[in-house]
Amino acid sequence: MQVTEELIRNVVERVLAQVGTGGSHSGAHASNGRSHRGRFGVFDNVDDAVAAATEAFEALSERTIEDRKRIIGHIRRISIDQCVELGTMEMNETKIGRLVHKIEKLKTLGEKTPGVEFLRSEVFSGDHGLAVIEHAPFGVIGCITPVTHSLPTITGNAVSMIAGGNTLVVNPHPSGKLVAAEGVRRFNEAIYRDLGIDNLICVIAEPTIESADAVFNHRGVKLICVTGGPAVARAAMKSSKRAIVAGPGNPPVVVDETADLDRAARSIIQGGAYDNNLLCIAEKEVFVVSEVFDAMMAAMDRAGAARLNAREVDTFTKVAITSVGEGQHKHDVPHKDFLGKDAAVLAKAIGKNVPAKTELLFGETDEHNPFVPVEQMMPFIPFVRCRDVDEAIAKAKHYEHGFRHTAIIHSNNVRNMTKMGRALDTTLFVKNGPCMASLGLGGEGYLSFSIATPTGEGVTTPLTFTRERRCSLIDDLCILGAGARG
Ligand code: NAD
Repeated sequence: MQVTEELIRNVVERVLAQVGTGGSHSGAHASNGRSHRGRFGVFDNVDDAVAAATEAFEALSERTIEDRKRIIGHIRRISIDQCVELGTMEMNETKIGRLVHKIEKLKTLGEKTPGVEFLRSEVFSGDHGLAVIEHAPFGVIGCITPVTHSLPTITGNAVSMIAGGNTLVVNPHPSGKLVAAEGVRRFNEAIYRDLGIDNLICVIAEPTIESADAVFNHRGVKLICVTGGPAVARAAMKSSKRAIVAGPGNPPVVVDETADLDRAARSIIQGGAYDNNLLCIAEKEVFVVSEVFDAMMAAMDRAGAARLNAREVDTFTKVAITSVGEGQHKHDVPHKDFLGKDAAVLAKAIGKNVPAKTELLFGETDEHNPFVPVEQMMPFIPFVRCRDVDEAIAKAKHYEHGFRHTAIIHSNNVRNMTKMGRALDTTLFVKNGPCMASLGLGGEGYLSFSIATPTGEGVTTPLTFTRERRCSLIDDLCILGAGARG
């Protein structure tokens, strides 16, 4: 299906007519008003959800790999066919990001998340027989998902985890709970009607920190997968269970004197403005060598970003960044009124008019401007002038905060690329493209919206959610040569 502006407009109108704009529609209810809680995956409490997911896991364990493929086929189909409607619900509920990208994320995850084809067994054969390594499920996986991609994260997790033979219980972000429940209800209903198994994907209808904690500590949950910011990443790492943690990022970009500046500018806009800078992998601050700094700023102008002057940057910083915490815990955070808002809305806050279609604001700052250290999640990107590439790489390393998440360089000097890759040691290291190219969207490789950074699993796949099991036959079935039996 071709997603066009007209198609989006039509469907948005239909959806708004159905659900109203005030977000009063509960995803835990069907449009006829009957409650689905406790059915088709939507639950009031963690104990019930884990019990249902456990039962579903037992049922799934009796099924073939081909059945897993069919189950995933339903998730893919709904995610692709209903991307406009579900993306619109997500936009209306969370009120952050850009509608066209909400829609595209669901469609792309449906199309590109790896499924059962990603599972492979390894074999060792020799004089002493045969050993096969197979990838088995864990059971029920407890998931925590972010507001930035509420249903997309669940969709990607569901495909990967079910491909690995698992079921899941999701504690979504409270600000994206309705679309989470509605998506999960649709997935389960379709799967149930075709294969007779319900509750493969369970969601807590009224998620809280307490329900997240209950998921972390439930005896029936065998593994945790957390996608979110620093607080939840820390909480998961402290849990007594094995946790796969897709934590926060603050991806720096370095531009050296050999870069193709127009390509760099287009890439920074494409990645940094995607869904209004909500992606954890998105370009967040740019360090440019002084030799090409002015030319790079001009390239950003040419590519359509709107430049703020020094006074405007100052004023904008004061309204868009705020402090939280006390004493040694005091730190800067993005002001929630500006999170994921359009560039034109940000500009308006300081009395500046830019065309409504402007994707990104940018401006020169020094490294001490809070937009450099803070994961801003809004479409303003600070550009910092650096003496040379060594200084740019050193600052990039400093402001990545050791998250080891994502870093980007625009360069045609392979030594500079290598130097930065080694220094930053990030999970994703992108050269000469926008951040999303590293997830197979315009680059090679596969897609997931849970990139496990502190715990090291990287871009998650079905194999991430499996246990290795070894099946050994001693002395037989190696059909080469004489073997140990002589
Ligand atoms: P968030 O940390 O505010 O919330 C994430 C989830 O954790 C939510 O479900 C929230 O309810 C829950 N949560 C928050 N604090 C908790 C605690 N102390 N105990 C238990 N649960 C808790 O993040 P967000 O604003 O929803 O999402 C944006 C953040 O997620 C950014 O930092 C971004 O970098 C990160 N993120 C990372 C990836 C990745 O793949 N590494 C992907 C998407 C988003």
